Amino acid sequence: MISPAPTAARPVRADLFDRLSEARAATPGRAVFTTSFGIEDQAIAHAIFEGDYNIEVVTLDTGRLFQETYALWAQTEARYARRIRGFNPNAARVESLVAEQGIDGFYHAIEARKACCNIRKVEPLKRALAGAALWITGLRAEQSDARSAAPFLAHDAGFDILKANPLHDWTRDEVVAYTHAHHVPVNVLHAKGFPSIGCAPCTRAIAEDEPERAGRWWWEQESAKECGLHVGPDGRLQRANAAEAHA
Ligand code: SF4
Repeated sequence: MISPAPTAARPVRADLFDRLSEARAATPGRAVFTTSFGIEDQAIAHAIFEGDYNIEVVTLDTGRLFQETYALWAQTEARYARRIRGFNPNAARVESLVAEQGIDGFYHAIEARKACCNIRKVEPLKRALAGAALWITGLRAEQSDARSAAPFLAHDAGFDILKANPLHDWTRDEVVAYTHAHHVPVNVLHAKGFPSIGCAPCTRAIAEDEPERAGRWWWEQESAKECGLHVGPDGRLQRANAAEAHA
């Protein structure tokens, strides 16, 4: 069931709670919310922790996150008295990767970057979603052209799972208003020019006139960006300026 289009008078808070209820009701199986502690994810985490949806909240700890993100992870656990499970990359595979391409090898070739994302993000995500029936993310259609058609609920071909994007039609301003209204802790980097936050070496601050995701893998051509966590309805990888990791 797809929610109706938003209106200016849309009751934002009720909408998020309702959507989580609707998504949870769509399947009785294990439900997983993957957070990267961005502002959208913090809004969803708040609703999950305040509600009673039987949804696991997990994160992909790549080992290269900003210290500010780790601090928010701890702050969020303390605020809601809940544990957020981290999924880490396979240590042996990271050792081999670093031995082969160097600690920051991802800057030197797209294939090296893809290899790092695969080991640090994609493989842990597969483990996080193993056996799950529902995957909840913080994707918003407004984030990019490629996400503009992001639905509320749809089958994800890449992971063969029902994927819910409860904020798919929210604006960034609505998300900000929601976090302010509910005193939700957010990453301090947002106020320093980082609207989208991923791994520290692969994220930079953006200028006011730049797209929201311009700071992600900024050294790569836009056409070459892809992360591997999100695929389109046709099963093909989405472009990363639209499709990051939960990243
Ligand atoms: S975003 Fe950068 S550091 Fe993080 S997994 Fe991808 S290439 Fe590696």
